[in-house]
Amino acid sequence: MKKFLIYLVAAVVILGGLLRFSLEFEGMQDTAIDQMARAAMKRNAEGLPNPDALRVFMCGTASPLGVGRAQACVAILTPTHFYLVDVGAGAGAEIQRANLPLERLQGVFLTHFHSDHIAELYEVNLGSWVRGRPEPMRVFGPRGVKSVIDGINDTYELDRGYRIEHHGEDLLPGHLGKLVHRTIDEDLVLEDGDLKVTAYIAEHDPASPALGYRFDYRGRSVVISGDSNVIDETRRVSDGADLLLHDALSVPLVTTMAKAAKQAGAERLSKIATDVLDYHASVQSIVALNDEIDIGMVGYYHLVPIPVTIVQQKFFERNLPENYVVTDDGDWFELPSNSDEIKHIRP
Ligand SMILES: [Zn+2]
Ligand SMILES: [Zn+2]
Repeated sequence: MKKFLIYLVAAVVILGGLLRFSLEFEGMQDTAIDQMARAAMKRNAEGLPNPDALRVFMCGTASPLGVGRAQACVAILTPTHFYLVDVGAGAGAEIQRANLPLERLQGVFLTHFHSDHIAELYEVNLGSWVRGRPEPMRVFGPRGVKSVIDGINDTYELDRGYRIEHHGEDLLPGHLGKLVHRTIDEDLVLEDGDLKVTAYIAEHDPASPALGYRFDYRGRSVVISGDSNVIDETRRVSDGADLLLHDALSVPLVTTMAKAAKQAGAERLSKIATDVLDYHASVQSIVALNDEIDIGMVGYYHLVPIPVTIVQQKFFERNLPENYVVTDDGDWFELPSNSDEIKHIRP
């Protein structure tokens, strides 16, 4: 048996080596790329499974000024709905990797206008325009959304012109390339068939007003905090929800970084690290929610700082209740309609 295993491993290594060597030849490269393109197109055409569920995809779990993850982005899908909450840098790639149905993207809800929440708005708009979205992309946000969207539309006016001229108005109708905005306040902000979206006022001064959102679909619900401390509004809106996705800051990690920066003479970095302590929810305050309200599952996202090592990840996992998870880019949550099942799927 042992001998057989040694032969098997040796055969796999040799075959792998031969395969790698064969890619030095152009004929093999042509064949490989043809197969890969066919597989990608087939995957595109097949689309995603589409169960009757409220599905949540983590297209970005990072905060700003770090590496290794995409910035804030959460996708909400049902068989007939597809909305995004925030679109930070790197989110577009995560959305494409997961093959989300950009052709039926209905809109983006912005929590506030820090760069890590809006950086790839236009990239996602372009991706869904190219894929044939039938309506202009709507962007919902608190007061200030008009100037952000007007600015983006102005900035990319030339880009839209080039693309329309190159591919033709039939393929890329000009009015579908321009974002449209809607200023919203707290309360019910959208009712779209069985999907209901409610906004609430978050605490993220001086980025104010900032909003969090609750999505309700056929007896299931998810709350997305955006950037905020845990406040009474968080408790009120999340009480009874199935899933809460909350921005999470590890106080020991941030204070250790601030101290180390100060000792190294990096005063600017030290001040920035200290400043962020007052406007993101500490892990401790989110854990406390588990005793304060009735909640199905909690996922940390918009992690401050972005954990790039296992040790940093462990800080976020300290005292983690059983129904809590530290999310990562590419994670899914699936909440089948009219049930109480919550699946956390990590590909
Ligand atoms: Zn942020
Ligand atoms: Zn922010």
